[in-house]
Amino acid sequence: MQECLFCSIAKGQTDTIFLYEDDELVAFRDISPQAPFHILIVPKAHMQSAATLTEDEGSILGRVFNLAARLAAQDGYTNGYRIVTNVGEEGGQTVPHLHFHVLAGRNLGWPPG
Ligand code: 5GP
Ligand code: ZN
Repeated sequence: MQECLFCSIAKGQTDTIFLYEDDELVAFRDISPQAPFHILIVPKAHMQSAATLTEDEGSILGRVFNLAARLAAQDGYTNGYRIVTNVGEEGGQTVPHLHFHVLAGRNLGWPPG
C-alpha cells in the first residue's frame, strides 16, 4: 500500500521545507501556489478530511486558525487571507489527508469558482 503523501511530508520523509512544526501540526508552501501566499497547514495525525474529524480531534482547529493568522502576518499579509479545506471529490480535495489552505496576496473574490 502506498503511503499517504501528507503523512510522508509530515514525518519529514520528503525534502519539503517546513515553515512551522510542532507535535501536532506542520505548515509548508503549496507546490502549486494559487496566490502570492499559499501555504498548507497539516495535522500530523492522519485524518481523511474535515468530514471525518471527530469532536475530540476538533480541538486542533483553534491551533490551526491561530497558526494561519501568525504565518500570514509573518509574511506581511495583514490585509486579509482565506482559509480553505476541501472535502471529497466534488469539494476539490485531491490529497485525502486533512489540510487547510491559507491564501493571501491577491483579491480572492467571492464566491469561489
Ligand atoms: P486539495 O486539492 O486536496 O485541497 O489540496 C492539495 C494541495 O496539495 C494542492 O494545492 C497541491 O498543489 C498540494 N500538493 C500536492 N502535492 C504536494 C507536494 O508534494 N508538496 C507540496 N508542498 N504541496 C503539494
Ligand atoms: Zn496521511
